[in-house]
Amino acid sequence: MPKVLFAVSEVHPLIKTGGLADFAGSLPVALQELRHDVRLVLPAYRPVLAQARAWRVVARLELPGQQASILEGALPGTRVTCWLVHAPKWFDRPGGPYTDASGHDWPDNAARYALFAHAVTRLALGQTGLNWRARVVHCNDWQTGLVPALLSREADRPATLFTIHNLAYQGLFPAAQFPALHLPAALWGHDGLEFHGQLSFIKGGLIYADRINTVSPTYAEEITTSALGYGLEGLIKHRAAHVSGILNGVDYRVWDPARDLLIIRNYSSADLAHKAANKQWLQQHCALPVQERIPLIGMVGRLVEQKGIDMLLAALPQLVQLPLQLVLLGSGARPFEDALQDWARRYPQRLSVHIGYSEELAHRIEAGSDMFLMPSRFEPCGLNQLYSLRYGTVPIVRRTGGLADTVLDASADHLKQGRATGIVFSEEGGAALLHAVRRALDLFSHPPTWRALMLAGMRQDYSWGTSARRYSALYQQAIAARR
Ligand code: ADP
Repeated sequence: MPKVLFAVSEVHPLIKTGGLADFAGSLPVALQELRHDVRLVLPAYRPVLAQARAWRVVARLELPGQQASILEGALPGTRVTCWLVHAPKWFDRPGGPYTDASGHDWPDNAARYALFAHAVTRLALGQTGLNWRARVVHCNDWQTGLVPALLSREADRPATLFTIHNLAYQGLFPAAQFPALHLPAALWGHDGLEFHGQLSFIKGGLIYADRINTVSPTYAEEITTSALGYGLEGLIKHRAAHVSGILNGVDYRVWDPARDLLIIRNYSSADLAHKAANKQWLQQHCALPVQERIPLIGMVGRLVEQKGIDMLLAALPQLVQLPLQLVLLGSGARPFEDALQDWARRYPQRLSVHIGYSEELAHRIEAGSDMFLMPSRFEPCGLNQLYSLRYGTVPIVRRTGGLADTVLDASADHLKQGRATGIVFSEEGGAALLHAVRRALDLFSHPPTWRALMLAGMRQDYSWGTSARRYSALYQQAIAARR
C-alpha cells in the first residue's frame, strides 16, 4: 500500500473548528486499517502543543527564510503517527487556528500557511532526514493548496490529491503578499495562483493536484454551477474528468449512542426507551419544561449564513407559537448570536440558545433531541445529520450537497417502503423551513410512524470503511496519473 502524507490544518481531538477536524481524525485511522502507512501533518498551534508535551523533535528544517522543527507523536487515541510543524512565530499564539480570539482572521495567514506548505513539501519529498517519503500527498482545503503547486515543480514527486471540504473558503490574499511567500515566480498568473488579481491558495490544489475530490457526490456537481462555484466553476468543469465526490464517514467510536461516553444514558435501537433520560436531562439543563411528549428540536453548528441561520430567524416568529422546544448550540457571526439570544430571552419556554463551543453539549443535544434541524444553504457533506441518524434524532434538512445524499424524505412512498429517514425540503427561506417543521410535528404525533423513521435512520451505516476504500482507490488513480 502506498505511503500517504495527510496534510491538514485541524484534527480531532487535537484541535477542531468544524467537520474538517472530524474527517482528519478518522479517515487516517480507517486507512491504517486498510494497511496504508499514513502520516498526519498539521501546524503546532498552542493548544496542540499543550497536548503534545511528551512528543519529541525528530527533524529540523531550513525553510526559505526561516526554520521549523518537526515534533512526532501518535494522534491521541490512535496509532497514527502525527507530525507537527513547530514554528512558534506563526503558530504558537492564543486564539484559534485561523482567527484571533475575537474572530478576526490572523493578518499573516498567507505567510503562516505558506510556511506550512513548504514544510509539508519537504516531508513529502523525504528531505528531512526522516527516512520516509510519500507516494501520495492528501491535501485538504485552501490551507494546504500550495502543496500541490510546490510539488508540481519537482521532477521526482509524489502524486497529489486535493479534497475540497468547503469551496466558499478559498484563502484569498492581496497579490502584494505573493513575493514574501518564497514561491516560484512561475506559479503566478491566470493559469496559476492568481484569481482576479488576488492570490488564491485553493487554486494551487485545483490546478496542480493529480486528482480532486469533494465530500459528497451532490456537492461535486453543485460546485460546477455559478451558484456554488464562486467563480471557480469554469476551472472545476475543465478538470471534470479528475473530480469526484466521496461521502464522509462517521467515527462511530465517538458518535454512537450505545457507547458514547458523554451522554447521560446509553441506548440503541434495542433499548430506545433509554433515549428519554437524555431528553429529560437536556430539558432540565436548558430550563425548558420537562415534558416527554413535546417535540424537542436540536441544532449544533457554526452560526453563519451557510447554515441557514437567517432562514431560522425568519421562521422563529411562527416557530415559537408551535408546540415544540428548540435547543441551539453554536457560535459565529455576532448579529446571529445576538438575535438568537434575544429570541431565547423572550421565549424561554420554547427556545434555549448556547453560544460557544462544547463537545459534551453537542453530544447531549444529539442524544436528547427528537429532531435535528439543518436548513443549510449549501452543505458539502454535513456530519450532524449522519450523527443524528445514528442517535435516532430525525434530521430535518434542506436538499443540498451531502444532506441530499444521506437523508431520504418521509414521503408517503418512502414511508410505505420503510426507507424514509428524515424530512427534506428544497426551497430556501423561512416559509419552507416552517413547512418542514410542521411536517415533522405531524409525523411525531403518530408514534408508530415516528418510531419507524427513527429506526430506519439508526440502521444506516456510514462507517468509514467504504469511504476509506474509495480514497484508497483514488490514491491509486492519482499515482497512475502521475506515471
Ligand atoms: P462544518 O464543517 O461546515 O462546520 P459539519 O457538519 O461538516 O460542518 O461539521 C461540524 C462539526 O463541528 C460537527 O462535529 C459539529 O458537532 C461540530 N460543531 C460545530 N459547532 C459546534 C459547537 N458550537 N460546539 C460543539 N461542536 C460543534
